[in-house]
Amino acid sequence: MNPKYIFGPVPSRRLGNSLGINPIPLKTCNYSCVYCQLGKTSDLKNEIKEYFPLNEIEAELVNFFQNVKNLPDYITIVGEGEPLLYSKLGELIAFIKETFLPPVALITNGSLLYIKEVRDSVSNVDVILPTVDTVIPETFKKINRPYRDLSLEKILEGLLLTKASFKGEFWAEVMLVKGLNDSEKEIIALSEYFKKLKPDRIFINIPVRPPADSWVESPDISAFHIVEKYIPEAEFINFSAAGIIDPEAYDSLEELIISVSRRHPISLQLLKNSVNESDEKIEKAIKKLESEEKIKLLKHGNKTFIRGLSERTKLLNR
Ligand code: SF4
Repeated sequence: MNPKYIFGPVPSRRLGNSLGINPIPLKTCNYSCVYCQLGKTSDLKNEIKEYFPLNEIEAELVNFFQNVKNLPDYITIVGEGEPLLYSKLGELIAFIKETFLPPVALITNGSLLYIKEVRDSVSNVDVILPTVDTVIPETFKKINRPYRDLSLEKILEGLLLTKASFKGEFWAEVMLVKGLNDSEKEIIALSEYFKKLKPDRIFINIPVRPPADSWVESPDISAFHIVEKYIPEAEFINFSAAGIIDPEAYDSLEELIISVSRRHPISLQLLKNSVNESDEKIEKAIKKLESEEKIKLLKHGNKTFIRGLSERTKLLNR
């Protein structure tokens, strides 16, 4: 019989080979994000209940692990709606931790973590990945379109409380949408919040899959420069799939690198992620440009940045 509540394992950039568990019916969520890859939220609700029978989910897991040859790297609770709305989440997590070896990850919009019981129910997961797209209430309404009772202030406070007591890894994710949360004001406000939250990792994502609202677009490269300036520890995901920088628009790869790095330094990671060229080709071009003194490599934290040198900055650098 085909499983109803578990899927995969599927390869995940952040979680390796990940076995997914979906404890929530499709598009049952307390947000209706403009970028949601599952389409528009059909059932906008904030009701916590046992949407699917816990014993059926547990039985599927037992059956999977009885027959599996290679253990997944993670068991990931990631609903086709919002998993925090599942009233048996704490019991499900406890069952997984007691019964199976792989660590447990929870992908969530984080909206209900301000409620102590909800916080306690997830305190046992190994990795929690909450979304923080904005800290500005007007933008929150535009991008996440939350259920009417939800307050961003409470949600942000809930995340701070969760992080303060959480023993596992806390990885925050920001989905950047052009014209909504990609301005300098938005990113500075987020960076200030992250200084308080202190997530273990921060991921910057972009809408690469068909979004709920067709007008949703990925930001321009200038927004990523702003992220690199104010949140230098951020890691960029899904960029290569989107091909943010189109090599066709430039005469050569070298010209592309000089052009995107001249006004603002760009990290090597973002460059590699954003251009659909092999890492070897990019590294070769960088070496050549460095030897020709057309770019300079700078270290910041654990990242390497590239700065394009104009004739004027070249003279100043001498
Ligand atoms: S929180 Fe997740 S499931 Fe809910 S609308 Fe947003 S992206 Fe979709």
